[in-house]
Order: sequence, then C-alpha cells, then structure tokens
Amino acid sequence: MTQDSLLIEVRGISKRFGDTTVLNDISLDIRKSEVLCIIGPSGSGKSTLLRSMAFLEKYDSGDILIEGELLGYVDQNGARRDATVAEINHVRRHVGMVFQQFNLWPHMTALGNVAEALVRVKRLSRDEARKKGMALLERVGLASRADAHPIRLSGGQQQRVAIARALAMEPHIMLFDEPTSALDPELVGEVLQVMKDLAREGMTMAVVTHEMGFAAQVADRVAFIDQGQIAISGPPKELFRNVQHERLKQFLQNYLDRNAFWGQEDS
Ligand code: ADP
Ligand code: MG
Repeated sequence: MTQDSLLIEVRGISKRFGDTTVLNDISLDIRKSEVLCIIGPSGSGKSTLLRSMAFLEKYDSGDILIEGELLGYVDQNGARRDATVAEINHVRRHVGMVFQQFNLWPHMTALGNVAEALVRVKRLSRDEARKKGMALLERVGLASRADAHPIRLSGGQQQRVAIARALAMEPHIMLFDEPTSALDPELVGEVLQVMKDLAREGMTMAVVTHEMGFAAQVADRVAFIDQGQIAISGPPKELFRNVQHERLKQFLQNYLDRNAFWGQEDS
C-alpha cells in the first residue's frame, strides 16, 4: 500500500470540551475506496471525530492529513499556527459531508439545492449547473422529483438530495454522520441503498452509523469508539463474529435488545 492511497490520516488527535476529554489520542487511516464504519455508544465521540475530519470541529493536538495535507493548522519554521479559512477550505475541498439533519434550502427545489452548490462553489453557469444537477439527482434516483421543494419530499428523498448535493463537489471522500437516524424506519433502506451504490462505485467513505447490518455488509473496516478512544477495529467479519471484546459485546447486546438484528425479522 503506497502513501498515495491514504486519503485521510488521523494521527493521535485529542479534543477537549472544557474539562471533558472527548477524543483521546485517536489514530486511524482511511485508504482510497475504503468504507470505514464508526460505531459506538451515544456520547462516545463519533460525531466529534467525523466533524474533525472536515475541521467543523477544531482538534487540540495531533494531526489530521487529507491527501497528505495538514488540516486546520500550518507548520511553518518549526512552529504551528492556525490555518486561515481559505487554507482550511483548500485542504478540505475534496471532502463531502452528509449529516443526520438534511439541511436543504427550503425555498429551493431539489434541483435548485444541488445546482446552487455548483454555482456557488464550482462557479458553473446556471445552465451547466442544472444539467450536472440533473445527472446527480438521477444518480440518487430522484430525477423525477427535481422540481419538488424539500417540504414535498419524504425524509429519505431529502437525504438523497443532500447526498447529491455533497456529490456535486466531486468529493474524494464522503463523511456521513448517522445519515439515517432521523428517518422513519421504512425510509432508511433507500438511503442505505444509495450509499451502498456509492461504495460499490469505489467512493471512499467514513460512516458513523447505528445500522449494524450496513456496517456488516458494506464496511471494509469497523471502528468501535468508546469514551473517546478506538476500543477495537477490524474487518466486520472479525469484529462481529465471536465477539471477545467486553465493551463491544455489551454495545451489540444493547443494540440487539433495541433492534431486529441477525436472523430476526425486520421491524
Ligand atoms: P457521539 O456522536 O458519539 O454521540 P459526540 O461526538 O457528539 O458523541 O460527543 C462526545 C462528547 O462530547 C459528549 O459527551 C458530548 O456531550 C460532548 N460534546 C459534543 N459537542 C460538544 C460541544 N460543542 N460542547 C461541549 N460538549 C460537547
Ligand atoms: Mg453523534
């Protein structure tokens, strides 16, 4: 594996909110075309870790490199300074992000939401942006809903528009933070399907999720975060079969108690 294939390197990052250490010396690599799923109890630091990878959250120590470039800071003459917004935006230009809340612009149509991003960020003409926007909506199965405003779309459709909007930036990596957690159960599948398709097409992805089935099926690697640390990580087959790790075992048992899981009927 060459250095080139590392899209994100997280090296020993820590993050505190006041007196609370939320991330405690976390290191992980994400390689090109890899799908990393991040699981763990509520409050364990999953969102903070993911948001740090787009510098939506400032990490206190350690390094995050995106395609080899330091994110959020600049090392100069042996000292480290905060990066400017322009420098941060440059380093994260190929990072796409999808949140639990879809954050679509309510006054714009589905197509408008995707096209606007292309006009604002990619500086495309309106015509080009609409053409490209349509192709992206097609990719998430929503070309027929291009003219609908968010309020007329289901939660699953809104999230797919949000994914199309993120894809408009031509990301090299997509970060998903519980993209299906705000959805009614019957709408979860259509969003996971779009994500599976992306994975199959070779998109590099880091996905915070409570969908253990998705993690088991789609992830190349699963990282279990507990109390701000990666407690254990590995391919899902190794991690989920014959679980030895006590905290992971407990986490999966809690999950089982709340959800239909292996071999059980879908709820
Ligand atoms: P997760 O996504 O795993 O549920 P988070 O990363 O959101 O966990 O949060 C980890 C911890 O950091 C929690 O204890 C949370 O209360 C705390 N936290 C998150 N964001 C903030 C913030 N902006 N200010 C203070 N504490 C925060
Ligand atoms: Mg979270």
